[in-house]
Amino acid sequence: MHRFTVDYSKDRPDPRVLLNRGYFINGIPRLILACRIRGHRPVVDGYDWQHGDRERARWVVCDRCGIRPHPQGQLDPDQWQLGQKYTGPFNPTQPLSPIVRKQLINRGHDAAIRLPGAWPAKPTSDVGAQFIIGRTYGFSSEVKVGNPTSEQCLAAHISLGPIGALYIHAEDHGRFIQRRLNNTKWESRETGLRLWHGQFEWRLWAPRDHSKKSDPWWMRGSFHIDPRHYLFGRHVCTIDKMSDKVPATVHLADGTEHEVTLRLERFVHGRKRRKKTTDWRADWTTVTPEGIATGFDRHVQGASVTVSAEAVEAEEWQQEACTAIAAWVTERRTANRLQSTDSA
Ligand SMILES: [Zn+2]
Repeated sequence: MHRFTVDYSKDRPDPRVLLNRGYFINGIPRLILACRIRGHRPVVDGYDWQHGDRERARWVVCDRCGIRPHPQGQLDPDQWQLGQKYTGPFNPTQPLSPIVRKQLINRGHDAAIRLPGAWPAKPTSDVGAQFIIGRTYGFSSEVKVGNPTSEQCLAAHISLGPIGALYIHAEDHGRFIQRRLNNTKWESRETGLRLWHGQFEWRLWAPRDHSKKSDPWWMRGSFHIDPRHYLFGRHVCTIDKMSDKVPATVHLADGTEHEVTLRLERFVHGRKRRKKTTDWRADWTTVTPEGIATGFDRHVQGASVTVSAEAVEAEEWQQEACTAIAAWVTERRTANRLQSTDSA
């Protein structure tokens, strides 16, 4: 077994985070008591991709602990069904060296090579955790049950906003649970709660990456916890283009000039039955396709900057936008540690 920790706070220093550390233990023996006493329970595993009939594969895995013999075998998909008990032979002399393999194939003994090899004598796997004291991203809690291809067959986390968070993952420890609960689909399942943008959301055994209209109602849902939602309606935002594209010049502190086009946009947002807030932004694009350098090998061809209502009223928003673009580029260059003189 090998224990080690990683200090993540060095990469992402944040005064509001007191501790951000990963803890790992590698090479923990797998808890497979039933398989040690009664032997593994080999079944046929693999896949049949729906697109085209040539994308098929079969190998052997223990139905109880999820461990595969080494090598796992290359069985004939026409002879072996997915999930079927594997009653065929093993070739415990495997794995073979690549040279021996090649020689056997040349002499026509490739059938033996395709057989599953021996079960690993001392299977191990790893566990890891990340512990954060201090600010995290909101309130949430979740348990994931992986699928047969998941690197982490079980994982969980709890995040408590300003207090901290704990993430844990178990790699192959827990394959027994994963194989019992989620062994037929290629998608992990999640169960959890979170507070997100004034909403309380839940997921109950929900597929991680897809949702379908036919999913049952209880699988996922949300409701607003902010009373203003019920009193004043939901948040709405409308964006209107308020000008044509107008040419302008951005003057940077290094003395360079950059031709851009600007377009004024009005953002009106707020709750449906409340007074709305109006923000003004200028959408900008450089005239030349190479854009403006913001760092070594980094360029920007456009973005959007805030302009004041007063500048819009006085019809001076173009000047304000160009000043804001110049300030933004300078900020990016500083962040990217580029001297203004290096760029053009
Ligand atoms: Zn087993």
